[in-house]
Amino acid sequence: MRVTVTGGAGFIGSNLARAAVADPQIDQVTVLDDLSTGLLTNLDGTDVTFIEGSLLDPRALDEAVAGRDAVVHLGALGSVPRSLDDPVRSHQVNATGTLLLLEACRRHRVGHVIVASSSSVYGSNPALPKSELAWTRPMSPYAASKLAAEAYTLAHQTSYGLPVLVFRFFNVYGPRQRPDHAYAAVIPRFVHAALSGDPVVVHGDGTQSRDFTYVGTVCDVLLEAIRRRVHHAQPVNLAFGAPASLLQILEELEDQLGHRVPRRFEPGRVGDVAHSLADDRLLRELFPAIDPVGRRAGLQATIRWMADSPRTLAQLR
Ligand code: NAD
Repeated sequence: MRVTVTGGAGFIGSNLARAAVADPQIDQVTVLDDLSTGLLTNLDGTDVTFIEGSLLDPRALDEAVAGRDAVVHLGALGSVPRSLDDPVRSHQVNATGTLLLLEACRRHRVGHVIVASSSSVYGSNPALPKSELAWTRPMSPYAASKLAAEAYTLAHQTSYGLPVLVFRFFNVYGPRQRPDHAYAAVIPRFVHAALSGDPVVVHGDGTQSRDFTYVGTVCDVLLEAIRRRVHHAQPVNLAFGAPASLLQILEELEDQLGHRVPRRFEPGRVGDVAHSLADDRLLRELFPAIDPVGRRAGLQATIRWMADSPRTLAQLR
């Protein structure tokens, strides 16, 4: 099989590209990435065909998807705060970029397209756990752009018969997730601060909870979806119902590191939801063989990667 990963120099994409190269059923892996937030070094030593180009460039898209059996679309501008700073750019990359990618896949008759959406589309819906059938109400431009992306993706299945699978990722964490930019996610920020001896910045009171999934588990699901060509008429939550509050994550980190981690509390952030928890029944029905990595092992691998990654830590000092 020939597979393309958009956003493959990023956190999830580079983990997936590495796992795909090692998969005996996959013969060739192509990465399309404009390196706007991803790092080429994430792919060091990996046998992939790298195309530096944008989702907004139809020629780069043609090159990336022509003759491929499957495309996994992870390229996006992530982060709620980033989208609040520049909502038009988030829309262009996340919504228009997805539509352009889908059109390229349609032109080249790609057999299977998997697209990353986000649990943020549930927004102000207070229901817990979040079922895929629950109403969506984005609270940020990022969430709105992801909802548009998943709507275009599902519409390409019904309108043009393009087999697609939309995953709503919840909070993914693990090696290669950057702690070093203004829009970094919570676990890499916490782990980095804890290893550096800096106080951890907690937005809000820390009781907000998220459904955390280890990146290796996400890659297992994506690879199985590619191999079995799983497609579906509705979005599928990608999380296994393993919620934790930010304070709980801090305690688990302290437990593993064997020392206390100082906290600094700052006001909550606009667009952040209080609690997020996946209804994982559809995911488990579609992927019964996947056994998710537990948080203890996942955090341990994340700490080990960050501690062993002198470049990452040096960059931050
Ligand atoms: P990431 O920022 O590490 O990776 C995204 C990649 O896309 C980067 O390498 C970036 O350079 C690339 N990119 C950005 N704009 C591009 C463009 N115009 N053309 C080509 N490439 C472009 O993010 P991630 O955490 O790996 O997330 C991957 C996907 O999963 C994204 O679609 C994101 O919205 C979604 N997601 C992630 C999480 C999470 O917890 N990490 C949660 C929900 C959804």
